[in-house]
Formats: sequence, C-alpha cells, structure tokens
Amino acid sequence: MKYISTRGGCSAVDFEGALLAGLAPDGGLYMPESWPQISPQDARRIGQLPYAQAAAEILSLFAGESFTIDELSTMAADAYGTFTDDRVAPLVKLGPEDWMLELFHGPTLAFKDFAMQILGRLFDAALERSDRRLTIIAATSGDTGSAAIEALKSCARVNVVVLHPEGRVSAVQQRMMTSVIAPNVMNIAIKGSFDDCQAIVKTLFADDAFVRDVRLSGVNSINWARLAAQTVYYFTAWAQIADGDEAVNFVVPTGNFGDVFAGYAAKRMGLPIAKLGVAANANDILHRAIAHGDYTPSSVKPTASPSMDIQVASNFERLLFEAKNRDANALRETMESFANNKGMKIDEETLAAIREDFVSDAVSMEETLSEIARHHKETGALIDPHTAVGRAAAIRFRESGALSGKIVTLSTAHPAKFPEAVKDATGETPALPDFYADLFDRPEKMEYALAEPQAVKTLISDAFAN
Ligand SMILES: *Cc1c(COP(=O)(O)O)cnc(C)c1O
Repeated sequence: MKYISTRGGCSAVDFEGALLAGLAPDGGLYMPESWPQISPQDARRIGQLPYAQAAAEILSLFAGESFTIDELSTMAADAYGTFTDDRVAPLVKLGPEDWMLELFHGPTLAFKDFAMQILGRLFDAALERSDRRLTIIAATSGDTGSAAIEALKSCARVNVVVLHPEGRVSAVQQRMMTSVIAPNVMNIAIKGSFDDCQAIVKTLFADDAFVRDVRLSGVNSINWARLAAQTVYYFTAWAQIADGDEAVNFVVPTGNFGDVFAGYAAKRMGLPIAKLGVAANANDILHRAIAHGDYTPSSVKPTASPSMDIQVASNFERLLFEAKNRDANALRETMESFANNKGMKIDEETLAAIREDFVSDAVSMEETLSEIARHHKETGALIDPHTAVGRAAAIRFRESGALSGKIVTLSTAHPAKFPEAVKDATGETPALPDFYADLFDRPEKMEYALAEPQAVKTLISDAFAN
C-alpha cells in the first residue's frame, strides 16, 4: 500500500513513511493510493471480532509491508488493553433506531486514545528498526495533549513536548497532562492562546536546523495512521446493529474533520454507511461549507466544547481531494487560492459530490447545554458537551428528514472531562473514574514560556538535543 500527497508534489511513500512524516513534504496530506476493499460479509466478520483483533485486521490492510499482522495484533492488544471497558467501544441503545457509540473508555477519557495508543506503539516499532529517536511536538486545546502524553510516555525512542495555552484548558485536562512525570515528557504552558501555540509549532517545523537537531515530528490528526485506526469503530458499531448489508448513518461531533473523515474512509472501503452527519459547534465553518459552499474562516469562538473550537479543519483537504476526483493539480490551485484569499467558495460540482456522503448542522452553546439537560432528564445519564453537539444535531437530522433509518452518534468524551459545562446544564458533577480519583493530589510538572518560538526552542534544545 502506497500513500500519495493530496497536492501531487512529492513521491509516494509506504505506511511507515506516512506515519513518521505526518505532513507530506509538499504541504499536502497523505492518502492511500487506492481504498482497500472489504465486502459486507467480511465487514460483518471483522466487525464482530474482539476489538483489538478487528483493529489489527483493518490496520493490516493499510500497513502493507510496513508491519506484519502479528506485529499489529500484539500492538493492538496492548493498545486497547489499556481501555477500562472490555468492549472497548460499547454501543448504547437510546431508541428504536438510535444509538450512542461510547469512545471515552481509554486512559484519557476521550476518543483520541483510540488512535494515540496504537500510534505510540507503531512509532516505537518503526524507530527501533531504524535505530532512531524522535521528538514529537503537539499544540493542544486539551484532549490531544493528554492522549499523546499518555500514549508516548513509555516509548523508549520518543520525546514528547506538548504546548497548551496557560489557564485555558480545563483543570482536568491540565492535570492529565502535567501529572505525567517522565524524563521524555515536557509540558509547556504558553502565555497566549491555542492559536499562539499552533503558530509556534509551525515556526519550529519551518526551522530546518532545529528539526534536524531534535528530530522533530508531529502527531496531530493529519497523520494518516491516526485516521486508519479510527476507521475500526465504524466497522464494529455497524456489525452490531445492521441487518444484512443495511446502510447505517453516523453523526460525528467535528472539529478538525479527522474523526468523520475516518467514517468516510470506512465507507470507501465498502462499509455500508448511508450518510455521515457533521455536527459542528458555534465554530460552524464546516456546516457553512457543506450546506452553502462557503469555506471562509472567521475568528475562533470559545465554547463549552473546546476540542471543536477550530476554524480551519486540516483534514477537509482530504475530502476536497476526493470530491475533485483526486485531481492533485486542481486541489493545489484550490488550496493556494484559499491561502491567498483567506477563504473560498466551493464549486457546485464539488459540493454535489460532498453532499452524496455528508449532511451538516451547527449547534449553539445554548442548544448544547439544553441537550445535556434533556438527555439527563430522559435517560438519567450525563453526556459531555462534545457528545451533546452530536446528539442535538442527530435529533434535528431525523426531524428534518436529512437522515432516516438507523443513526449512531459518536460520544467522544467522558462527561467528567468537562465537569463545569455538565454541572451548569444539570446541577450534577460527573465523577471521574476511580483511576483518576487522586488526580488533583498528584504532583504536577510543567515549564512556562512566553508565546515566542525562541523561548520554546531553548527549552526543547536544552532537554532533548544531541
Ligand atoms: C478532538 C475532539 C473532537 C473533534 O474531532 P476531529 O477529529 O478534530 O473532528 C470531538 N470531540 C472531542 C472530545 C475531541 O477531543
């Protein structure tokens, strides 16, 4: 299996190459040269396997020669063995044709553990073979940082540096990152916003000498291996509820368009998916894009669902590439004009292709909180604000007729990761699982830096350069 760049300006690489590089050298994103195919019968067989085995089988279709099925089976067993629910991704029935797919039983209580736990193991194996080390850097608004640290803290060949905006992540998110004290883990609290953190990371990647010195790499959701790992729960969920080769809908709380694009990948692989519902919060650029063809970022509005407070959704480029029939030249022009004009109008033909697979909606903060309250009243259960955005959109999709038949809403975080919003909506404070009962008593370790690339560079070089 080879991976090509959406912008067509560099040569194809294998799975390991795409894993270690993250972004393609021409600035594009890696995509499989063709979609591996799974028949509905095989989808049912694989989807009914224990989760780790299903993951190994599906990942082996993407990994080609890079990792054997035995290696993948061991890594998947270890990765998903860290989850506290044996089913790994349990499906909860909410109504005759409605389900919620719980993706928060991993070590940091959000769906990002599904990809990160396996990614850490893939990195270690690949680096071991080539006797190399890497320094992984990530900017986080909360969930990516904790998932990356938890997954990479025991990797022998990886250092991990996480930048978060000081005082702007939830207390639980901060503690999950800063209470991991290991020689290869560095947390940096930046005096600034999440955008400042991201800008610093971009500047560091553009500094060739620094990249070489500390062997810098990234793990944000543009990394293909993360999306490959996230296709798996679409298969396991489908296999539990579909009759025959019946098509099922999935509604996905969306920020960077990674999770929902994994659903699209599953569909291209042959999984019977009717439509994918993109559920955005007040940062509604993806809804405007899909509903009206208007892909124009505005400034980021802080909401109760901070992991979706994103304006430019990196993975949307992958969908545009597909919708333009993989015409890399057309896509490169589109992305260049998007960068120059700070926005774009999506043409009707591309839009029609997108709408064959996607519907969209945007959910305000008020609607999010009232959905948490409504869900609690109706079912007695607490849901987190990201999940509530998804459920509120799913209910509207059914009411409007945009979706019909079976609908699975992805539940992306544990309510205790966002206790403030849940308490505002319901008056109840969700309890952290037992293994985090002492989270606020654990010692913390972090560095502080001004929002300046040089300050961050010095911290990293002092700790991790040769
Ligand atoms: C990251 C995240 C999302 C958004 O996922 P994308 O892949 O960026 O679209 C939704 N919910 C939670 C809890 C997250 O951490």
